[in-house]
Amino acid sequence: MQPLAVLDHRYVWHPFTQMREWLKAEPLVIVRGRGAELQDAQGRRYLDANSSIWTNLHGHQHPRINAAIRRQLRRIAHSSALGLANEPASKLAEALVKVANPPKIAHTTPDAAASSRSAKSRPLTKVFFSDDGSTAVEVALKLCFEFAKRTGASQRPRFLGLEGAYHGDTVGAVSLGHIDLFHKAYAPLLFRSDKVMAPYCYRCRFNRAKPERADARDYRKCNWECLGLLERKLKSHRAVRGPYAGFLVEPLMQGAAGMIAQPSGWLRRACELAHGYGTPIVADEVMTGFGRTGLSKAPARSGSAQVKPGEHAEFQGCQDSLFACHHEGVQPDFIALAKGLTGGYLPMAATLTTERVFKAFLGEYEEFKTFFHGHSYTGNQLGSASALASLQLLEEPASIAARRQLQKALCDNLGSLWKHPNVGDIRQVGLVVGVELVRDWRTREPFDLRERIGIRVCEAMARRGVLTRPIGNVVPLIPPYCTTESQARKMVEALSLSIEEIFPESLGRIPRKLSSNAPRARRT
Ligand code: PMP
Repeated sequence: MQPLAVLDHRYVWHPFTQMREWLKAEPLVIVRGRGAELQDAQGRRYLDANSSIWTNLHGHQHPRINAAIRRQLRRIAHSSALGLANEPASKLAEALVKVANPPKIAHTTPDAAASSRSAKSRPLTKVFFSDDGSTAVEVALKLCFEFAKRTGASQRPRFLGLEGAYHGDTVGAVSLGHIDLFHKAYAPLLFRSDKVMAPYCYRCRFNRAKPERADARDYRKCNWECLGLLERKLKSHRAVRGPYAGFLVEPLMQGAAGMIAQPSGWLRRACELAHGYGTPIVADEVMTGFGRTGLSKAPARSGSAQVKPGEHAEFQGCQDSLFACHHEGVQPDFIALAKGLTGGYLPMAATLTTERVFKAFLGEYEEFKTFFHGHSYTGNQLGSASALASLQLLEEPASIAARRQLQKALCDNLGSLWKHPNVGDIRQVGLVVGVELVRDWRTREPFDLRERIGIRVCEAMARRGVLTRPIGNVVPLIPPYCTTESQARKMVEALSLSIEEIFPESLGRIPRKLSSNAPRARRT
């Protein structure tokens, strides 16, 4: 075994990993990366098809980010934000406030004027730095909780989230999540939070449509029952305990739930409802932030029963937004950012909120209204310098063009996967893709997790030089923005060949029509 692999086996405990399994095989030891490629200790090269767990934006070893970190390193790596300010963190906070409030986002909910219950959305003006996605959410949760109490909205604040939600692994973030497997082990440690149906069109009990060879959002037949349930929940909670302290949402796509994409218009309507019932919105953009959800809005599908053509006309100007919320004209009250914040270089996070929340924590020293929360590396200079360089890159025309091209390349190639009878749903939102594998697309029957289908397909992809990590039976593709068209094609081809390898019995069942003239994946 490679000496570094021996060290790993001897000393390292890996996250979300059954270590008995891990210790059975020699691990890949990554020693370098460039662009969309990773290289292991034995010199083998792989495409990083999940951007190193959804963090990397511009590729590895980007010269501009490398240079920014080196420049900062010549001055100082870190000084505390407890009692001291620093240059890159201050500049980064300014830059984040700018991108979090694009001029095209009106600071009222679209129907505010029409609805007397609608609350006004306000600009996000304050930035609280922390270390990772979990702490960014933890900060939002504590601020919401305290804000609800201080404003008298609720004396027993409780949160509402979506089924399947994942917001991180600290105890507060786990309490707000709704993945049973993660929840169960720690149940006695957690506080109660409510959940409501997530818009998972492919497996929605209200979707009357038969399976088709297309993204389930495109052929769904429903009456937005999920939104009806949300409204009922908001209403009944407000009547008994006051408004929820926060409605947590991963906008446009729930990541760890299995890359579950929301149908066009859901986010806007859900957030209007939450605001209408006096509930602040916490957008967890840890995965979706910084351009991940793409550039152009999909026009509403005329063939779809419920989505009206031109539905999004009012948000046309938001199309170059870096945040998922803004694609639907939603301005949250809190936004949690991490992963791609530093371009995927360094662990750093930020929670943005409004002046109104900030002011609820102002007072005389002896009133102890202070927000009692902070981390040693808050506002770290190296992370901030890296994030500033990444933000600059994101706004440059070359990066915008590359993202647009990659989004299209993924879309163009994904269509070929419909030929596999074991592909049930293909969900693309911008530069994130989830391919859901099923026993048979006609029945949508899922595989038992113990069959390890996702794992086996991803292992087969790794043998073909493409790395990604499954979420149950869903294979994500979420490549760095520098991924070329041919690399994107290789990622999809590796997935296709791996599906064939794992399901050899399905080969004969590939309908001829689909194998030669496959429908395209939807463009979002
Ligand atoms: N929120 C979301 C939406 C996430 O996808 C994740 C991580 N996958 C987190 C929070 C937690 O982030 P971290 O792993 O950096 O703590």
